[in-house]
Amino acid sequence: MLHSKDEILELLLLEGPDILDLMRRACEPGSVTYSRNVFIPLTRACRNRCGYCTFRSDTPEPPLLEPEDVMGEVSRAISLGCTEALFTFGEDAHEFPGVQEKLESLGFRDMVDYTYHLCELTLDAGLLPHTNMGVIGYRDLRRLREVNASMGLMLESASPRLMETDAHRESPGKDPELRIRMIEDAGRLRIPFTTGILIGIGETLQERAESLLELRRIQDRYGHIQEIIIQNFRSKPGIPMENHQEPSLLEMVKMVAAAKIMFPDVSIQVPPNLNRETGEVFLLAGADDWGGVSPISRDHVNPEAPWPEIDELRRITESAGFVLEERLPVYRKFISREFLSPRVIERIEELYPQFIR
Ligand code: SF4
Repeated sequence: MLHSKDEILELLLLEGPDILDLMRRACEPGSVTYSRNVFIPLTRACRNRCGYCTFRSDTPEPPLLEPEDVMGEVSRAISLGCTEALFTFGEDAHEFPGVQEKLESLGFRDMVDYTYHLCELTLDAGLLPHTNMGVIGYRDLRRLREVNASMGLMLESASPRLMETDAHRESPGKDPELRIRMIEDAGRLRIPFTTGILIGIGETLQERAESLLELRRIQDRYGHIQEIIIQNFRSKPGIPMENHQEPSLLEMVKMVAAAKIMFPDVSIQVPPNLNRETGEVFLLAGADDWGGVSPISRDHVNPEAPWPEIDELRRITESAGFVLEERLPVYRKFISREFLSPRVIERIEELYPQFIR
């Protein structure tokens, strides 16, 4: 395992055939996992304005998905063999007038209240919820834990400097101090957690190394991180960072490999829809999870890149010499009463016993 910033930097600075040695060091033969999910973005309202975002809207229409629409998607997902409902949406969306009015008309106080209700219905219907609604406090996390199999929040970067750049200048919720506090709160609450780092948004190699070290520090203390997403910035027409350069394939390869060497106890995930042509290369660099893959919904955060079909994912995985293996939104080693609420674990035992060792 890597222990110092200099050791990580040494890997991130490798060139030429030395990168192949790094990939060999990081890559372990075996399985590559994915979760069959349905992506349910409850609202596009968000208090942040990240320079790379194509998801948020000032005037989301509709302001909020209604319970009937959500449960319609959940039923469709169940009929297609999904196990996970991914509730990912904008941060503090209830601050927006249209969203707040809708919440009140439905009888809910705020987005946490509404999300809790939908997760409860979803769990009862037979899918396991995973919620990522941006930065929330300890009490809200503790409440949502009751009805979620896992939760998530991207760290993005540990660098406060990015708060002064196009990436996060208008995004108070991207302050790394807030995000680190929430990831630690999830650790205190024993919530199986997904986090990640966004590569190519203006951070330096030093700052990439610092982000990995920060996640390692948290994991050493709490041990609740189940996967780390290494996500590449993609330029899209119309975003504030439209002309910003994307990270190169080799930059990404080195980051994935360094992450795997640093986190042998955590899955390293590379989003397949952002890397359709290069997925095999990342597997050979140590990536061992594809994340949530949906047979029905599109990736609304990156709508120009539809999820590859699961069969296509199997083909890519096998062509690189690995075996594709389905998992739940909570990894097997976290399926225990330490990490899951009684109602979630009972639902898993009842519905998905084949995923428990
Ligand atoms: S990337 Fe996420 S946090 Fe940033 S503006 Fe978009 S929805 Fe909000």
